[in-house]
Amino acid sequence: MEPALPSAIQPQMGYLVKYLFNVRPATTQKFRNLSQAHAPWAMVWEAEKNVDGLDDVDTLALFAGGRHAKNIAKPPQVAGLTEEQCRRKYIVDTLNKMRKPETKEVFAVEDILSSVFMDYPQDKFFGGGYSCPGVGEVTRLGEFLHTPFQNKVYFAGEFACRYKWNGFMEGALISGAGAAKEILKSATTKRERSKTPINSQFSLPTKLPSVIGLFNQGHKLF
Ligand SMILES: Cc1cc2nc3c(=O)[nH]c(=O)nc-3n(C[C@H](O)[C@H](O)[C@H](O)COP(=O)(O)OP(=O)(O)OC[C@H]3O[C@@H](n4cnc5c(N)ncnc54)[C@H](O)[C@@H]3O)c2cc1C
Repeated sequence: MEPALPSAIQPQMGYLVKYLFNVRPATTQKFRNLSQAHAPWAMVWEAEKNVDGLDDVDTLALFAGGRHAKNIAKPPQVAGLTEEQCRRKYIVDTLNKMRKPETKEVFAVEDILSSVFMDYPQDKFFGGGYSCPGVGEVTRLGEFLHTPFQNKVYFAGEFACRYKWNGFMEGALISGAGAAKEILKSATTKRERSKTPINSQFSLPTKLPSVIGLFNQGHKLF
């Protein structure tokens, strides 16, 4: 956010990245045999089949947060390898740690045909992952960011939803609609004081999309 909030009231943003990589169907099959329960990162999933109409190319999507996202962004360096080669090595090494004991197949760096790395915190238009409160922030900042500052500045966004749905569109929508309603109420009160009528036909949308609702409708979350 620009200008930045004073550090004492700055909500923590989580570090998160995505790594999309194209593989052959045989690699996808190896991936299916992994134990996701042992994944150090959030998850890897099959994002697309038959990429660009090619029936022998699939896309796997890796979603990571925190320490592992940082490791993917700045992978352990190996002499003679580029940063992207180090990243692929780190990912492949980690995938191999997720193998079930009985699985013989191993992943190789060559399994990754091509890739796109999205480092959201470093991207100038994203500037971060989603808000992820640090220790004490829920109680210290939750109410503060939800309350108009000196009755003049209204915060809205997923970080200002009293941490009910931080990290989700739901939180941003609830907080934005709530702030709009508060602003209108405040404007109406001022107008009433000056005896000038105002059109206040605004009400909170009753059917905000809910994450649970999206699941129930069969949509995938990511
Ligand atoms: C990779 C990723 C995957 C996600 N997946 C999901 C998902 O599947 N489901 C889900 O519910 N949520 C998901 N989220 C979270 C969701 O995108 C956010 O919670 C939501 O977009 C937050 O909305 P917001 O309005 O608070 O902020 P934003 O959407 O970030 O909007 C803030 C806007 O303010 C603009 N801005 C910033 N500074 C200025 C300035 N000085 N002047 C003018 N404009 C400015 C920014 O450009 C931006 O457009 C995901 C987030 C990421 C990063």
